[in-house]
Amino acid sequence: MSEHPLDLSARLIDTGVVDTPPNRITQELSELADGVAMIESFSHVVVLDTEEGLVTFDSSGPASGPAVVESLRNWSDAPVHTIVYTHGHIDHVGGSRAFAAEAQQAGRPVPRVLSHENVHARFERYESTNGYNQVINMRQFGGAAKKAGQASERPFLPKGTLRPDTTYAETLTEEIGGVSLEFNYCKGETDDHTWTWLPAQKMISAGDQFIWNFPNCGNPQKVQRFPIEWAESLRAMAGKGAELFVPAHGLPIAGEERIRTCLETVAGALEVLVAQVLEGMNAGATLDEIVHSVSVPAETLELPYLRPLYDEPEFVIRNVWRLYGGWYDGNPARLKPPADSVIGAEIVALAGGVQSVIDRAVGCSTEGDHRSACQLIEFAVAAEPEAHAVHEARVQIYTARRAAETSLLAKGIFKSAVADSEEALTGEVPDVTMVLNIGE
Ligand SMILES: [Zn+2]
Repeated sequence: MSEHPLDLSARLIDTGVVDTPPNRITQELSELADGVAMIESFSHVVVLDTEEGLVTFDSSGPASGPAVVESLRNWSDAPVHTIVYTHGHIDHVGGSRAFAAEAQQAGRPVPRVLSHENVHARFERYESTNGYNQVINMRQFGGAAKKAGQASERPFLPKGTLRPDTTYAETLTEEIGGVSLEFNYCKGETDDHTWTWLPAQKMISAGDQFIWNFPNCGNPQKVQRFPIEWAESLRAMAGKGAELFVPAHGLPIAGEERIRTCLETVAGALEVLVAQVLEGMNAGATLDEIVHSVSVPAETLELPYLRPLYDEPEFVIRNVWRLYGGWYDGNPARLKPPADSVIGAEIVALAGGVQSVIDRAVGCSTEGDHRSACQLIEFAVAAEPEAHAVHEARVQIYTARRAAETSLLAKGIFKSAVADSEEALTGEVPDVTMVLNIGE
């Protein structure tokens, strides 16, 4: 058995030393309190035992759902009364079909699903953007070449995923089997989040509003996220006096003071970041000036629950700009820019040939200026997309860049650039290993 998640979280938070990853995908069930358990998976499933049956928070993903159900059944044989979707991301809802199949096999009714009302709209959006979501998820989690992502025609939202039966708009209080549950709507990672307060248990189910990483609030390939509303929800949770706090990724946290400190620290980090970006915007700064001047203190990013290993502050800055401003970044050349191939050809001509651009790109990479290296090699590949030497240098440059990055989101995109050039060199689409690290 792994170290009990509450012991591990207390140790990581109290010492600040991360000697074990806080996001574990073991499918193991741990009891957190009387009648409360969690199964560590991708996402976790939190289970509540009531007199009317089990209430679960989330259902895990499509691949891990069956293992979660099996793990759950070693703990309780009671029927699943309700599955609460903390939000509509696939890794939280995709396991519901395993819960439905298990209920049907046992001759029991399919569990009811409760969520915020916006989950319906999300599921509709997944249908209208099916191909896009396949491509970006394969890039995000697997660093796939463009063609690998395009190959799949399966639905992004897996067939058989349960749709919500009960929805609400702002708050909803229910009593299930003698347990009172207060569902609260919030925005943050998504626009359809539910965090739940259980007054008798003094417990919070937080979904992805706390992920044991810097908040996934800047994701470059996904729809808008909401940092200030995210911080507000954390402050509302911090005000509850919870003794047990259970997120859908990472570790549960016990102890009123420990919980409040963690929540307020993450809220504060987001608030300061947003305030700095807004200050720049209000002063007329361009996006470029803001991206290269605003940062989060290094010591904040070293906290065990705020490390930028998934998302990162630079991406959040861009998302704040998108949220409060337009897509125009303040550089007039980029209002109506030339095609990449046109400006690429201009740069190559100025340099006196593509080899000079390649050489300088590799030079920048070797000097550690990965930003310039990538920009220069993109000029070269746009100008001469068939040139072998360009793709060889491009593989080298993005391999070095990926190694220098911390966040899964950056690493995935840079790895996909490597995969695209490898495909150009060999004519074969490289194999992809999906890295199911955390969150969507
Ligand atoms: Zn998630």
